[in-house]
Amino acid sequence: MQLVLQLTRDCNFACTYCYQTHSAGRGMTPEVAEAAVERLLDAGHAHVAITFFGGEPLLERETLEACWPALRELGARRGALVTAKVCTNGALLDRSLAEFARRTGLFVSLSVDGGPDVQDTGRPTVDGHSTSALAENALERLRVARAPFATYQVITPANAAVLARSTEWLLRRGSRVFVSTLDFGAPWTPADLRRLGVAYRGLARRYVRWTRRGETFFMTPFDAKITARTQGSRFGKETCCAGVRQIAVDPDGGIYPCIEFLESPKWKIGDVASGIDPASLASVYHDHGGSRPEECGDCGIRSRCASNCACLNLRVGGEMHSIDALLCAHERLVTQAADRIGRRLFQKRDRTFLDRHYNPWHQPLAVLESIFEETAS
Ligand code: SF4
Ligand code: SF4
Repeated sequence: MQLVLQLTRDCNFACTYCYQTHSAGRGMTPEVAEAAVERLLDAGHAHVAITFFGGEPLLERETLEACWPALRELGARRGALVTAKVCTNGALLDRSLAEFARRTGLFVSLSVDGGPDVQDTGRPTVDGHSTSALAENALERLRVARAPFATYQVITPANAAVLARSTEWLLRRGSRVFVSTLDFGAPWTPADLRRLGVAYRGLARRYVRWTRRGETFFMTPFDAKITARTQGSRFGKETCCAGVRQIAVDPDGGIYPCIEFLESPKWKIGDVASGIDPASLASVYHDHGGSRPEECGDCGIRSRCASNCACLNLRVGGEMHSIDALLCAHERLVTQAADRIGRRLFQKRDRTFLDRHYNPWHQPLAVLESIFEETAS
């Protein structure tokens, strides 16, 4: 079960593509966070995967540092696994926070779009200052502390053309888990989308090259699309489903079906004190339920497309269950690029690729391997 804890609605950045409404105010207390986890453990979930979210969650750093180890302990006492990641812009990520992440197994998702020219165009502070030095420092601290981390890029019409270069910049600074998403709020023109297609193909070539030279990395959305193909129907069972396999909790303890829903009180389905209201949840689930818009019909990539994501649909088209032309075009571009990667590496019988996507034991073994490496070092 995925649990998003929105520690604060406030943020110290003013990213050009941010879809959130920010406001200062009381952050989430450790008691609210604990009550949220208790609720899920009481419901019998054996694994609770927490995302500490904002705004910028490190504005509530004391709460994070106080409650994450306590929540992990709580899970252990109840015989459940509690894991966590924090999504941060990195401005407040100092050495001690990086070491805390390493020590406690807190996964860090660092939002950084690429080198200085890219980062400073899209991600200024609220005062309009550049943030590239802050992002680079955060990367360095995570790398030196050997904390587990991913980088999270937002692709815009302005930076799409240099996507491969930006990703290579992150690789050179130690990132090995690359996550990217599109700025769905931007006015993408047909020419922008053509440039994006070229950029994805360029990044796909880098993916092949890096894999062939033995780099270990994970790159979504490509890896997610390839996995969706190699796992077939098993894949759908693991994806999130708003309000059912995923909930989000606001700083006051209100429960929502997922991240995007935090933007409006009308989507509230309960609170941590009294639990989820079954009628409210049923209405969301009835409206959506993880299903796909009818218009998708028998599209050849429907089982691998994100059009069943209620959260994404809500952000892109304003409705949980609508099909959006930009989302549809983007899914096709990404899937085509991912399939080029798959074809190329499969033809070469690349061992790393085959392990990653066809060996169900690959992930557990990779984790064990990294633990032994840690112990040996
Ligand atoms: S750092 Fe995140 S929450 Fe803050 S403005 Fe940027 S996208 Fe929005
Ligand atoms: S690519 Fe378009 S038509 Fe196909 S499943 Fe996705 S949104 Fe639907």
